Amino acid sequence: MGHAFDTSTAVGHCPFMPVFGPPALMIERGSGTELFDSNGQRYLDFLSGIAVVSLGHANPVIAEAIAAQAHQLVHVSNFFANPVATRAALQVDRLLTDATGRPGQVFFTNSGAEANECAIKLARRHGGRGRHTIVSAYGSFHGRTLATLAATGQPAKHEPFQPMPEGFRHVAWGDLDAMAAAVDADVAAVLIESIQGEGGVMPAPEGYLEGIREICDRTGALLMLDEVQTGFGRTGRWFGFEHSGIIPDVVTLAKAMGNGMPIGACWAPVEIAASFQPGDHGSTYSGTALATAAVNAVIDEMRRLDAPALAATKGQRLRSVLTGIEGITGVRGSGLLIGVALADGLVAGEVAAAALSLGLIVNAVNASTIRLAPPLTVSDDEIVEAVGILAAAIKEVRS
Ligand SMILES: *Cc1c(COP(=O)(O)O)cnc(C)c1O
Repeated sequence: MGHAFDTSTAVGHCPFMPVFGPPALMIERGSGTELFDSNGQRYLDFLSGIAVVSLGHANPVIAEAIAAQAHQLVHVSNFFANPVATRAALQVDRLLTDATGRPGQVFFTNSGAEANECAIKLARRHGGRGRHTIVSAYGSFHGRTLATLAATGQPAKHEPFQPMPEGFRHVAWGDLDAMAAAVDADVAAVLIESIQGEGGVMPAPEGYLEGIREICDRTGALLMLDEVQTGFGRTGRWFGFEHSGIIPDVVTLAKAMGNGMPIGACWAPVEIAASFQPGDHGSTYSGTALATAAVNAVIDEMRRLDAPALAATKGQRLRSVLTGIEGITGVRGSGLLIGVALADGLVAGEVAAAALSLGLIVNAVNASTIRLAPPLTVSDDEIVEAVGILAAAIKEVRS
């Protein structure tokens, strides 16, 4: 089981607000796919800090870029430009222009939730008064701020914080008729994931995103893709929506974008971004030099490694090693964002805890699914080792 760690020793009570469960480990350092706890115990990290550390822990290229930037310039206000953020904006836009054919603009944020906040505000500004509703799917996850929580299609998470902000509507994931019925004249945008990550690694069904694109074209609603978890190569393409061939109107990013440096972005084509006027939105830390130095290093390094191809190849390898493992009934997802469906009677939380005690970090994304999202730089040997541990964990829980 998890080695429960007591964080309360220094002051007699835990210094963190009790919004997370008790921490399983005290992690002191990492290297590539490996993490080491305060006892020197080694773990294979097949979660990457929730699809964040895609280039591996303590990646020397990223570490060097952050350290060098810290000595040069960390932050200036948005009264001034800085060359680092400017290059990062051009780099992010280049990736999305290549994927969509649409030249665009970015707003940098500090998190995925803030990237979605920006998208929601942009949609409301674009729709105008009376056209402010955001439609999203049940099972989705869009963040923890009040507006992104309202967009998140998990009613149980809303309950303790009612009333939610107005103007959010939810429809069954994968149901195009429900989507068509929900997108009426007061809908500013549809906000959707290409693979529901937190919702259990649920890929968009065949034709789903294409159908939503048609509905949005018909009604004039914006199609906003939440690529916070699926972006930056994770699924085997730079962005998850590229598997479908649709062209979105707004794209939100974060997680792997800084390899752990907190940064996100909202991107939109120039003509849509033009709905914003000076003063409409902002953030003190938007495009700070330190965080965008990490973005530049991440994109350079991901291009050098061809990160999407790496995710596709390693994902294939991981799937093939998973095949035939007893207790696994299916494998969902794309590239290195994988949901492992467990046989009836196996509780994912128990399997994850058993894996942890055997030296493998995975995540029980729901009661019957283990999420695997190792660094894209994972080695074949690490894949074989991790699947061996997962198989042993399943066996242990079964007996
Ligand atoms: C993680 C996640 C978010 C929220 O990002 P934070 O950085 O935690 O605010 C939003 N959308 C999706 C799809 C995510 O996976």
